Amino acid sequence: MEKINYGKLLDETLAKLRETGERPSLLLHACCAPCSSHTLTVLDSFFDITLYFCNPNIAPESEFDFRLKELKRLVSEMGLGIDIIEEEYDPAPFYELAKGLEDLPERGERCRKCIGFRLGMAGEKAAELGCDYFTTTLTISPHKDCTFINQKGAEISEICGVPYLFSDFKKHDGYKHSIELSKQYSLYRQDYCGCVYSKANREKETS
Ligand code: SF4
Repeated sequence: MEKINYGKLLDETLAKLRETGERPSLLLHACCAPCSSHTLTVLDSFFDITLYFCNPNIAPESEFDFRLKELKRLVSEMGLGIDIIEEEYDPAPFYELAKGLEDLPERGERCRKCIGFRLGMAGEKAAELGCDYFTTTLTISPHKDCTFINQKGAEISEICGVPYLFSDFKKHDGYKHSIELSKQYSLYRQDYCGCVYSKANREKETS
């Protein structure tokens, strides 16, 4: 099966918006400040964005708090005037979905469930708010399965009734740009994905 170029799909959507001058509303699920930095520079000219920080996978709680704090600082320092909806820290659903999958490597079934859960929450929130689109910053990461994220977004879109904005924010040197912006804003760049299992893996690799 031919691989879909999700970066090109995003380019096409943005080109259409440029042509029509429409400015739809977008609920953008954000995992952290570094991944949001480049993503916001791409989307802010085209959408009325609301950020959605919903990440029950992050551990420990102090890390969750710090990633959120950095996201707020970034938005404020970029001067974008974007609202952030925060889901309170409640890791219980994450540990429930991760049961029996604790030892799997990244990009495996635990990660698919973790990403699917967060996208599902974003889709529900977008429907509740009456947004025109929803999407996530997660496709900027070279460690994540971009095709899975987009397919899952499309699946959830069918359920929640809100169009999913396809993306591959790595394209056009997006990941590199996020590193440059992280330096520019002195952002905290975590060295593990988020959950206790990814933290333990990173500690093993670096010990
Ligand atoms: S490694 Fe990342 S994507 Fe995978 S389960 Fe942990 S937090 Fe979620």
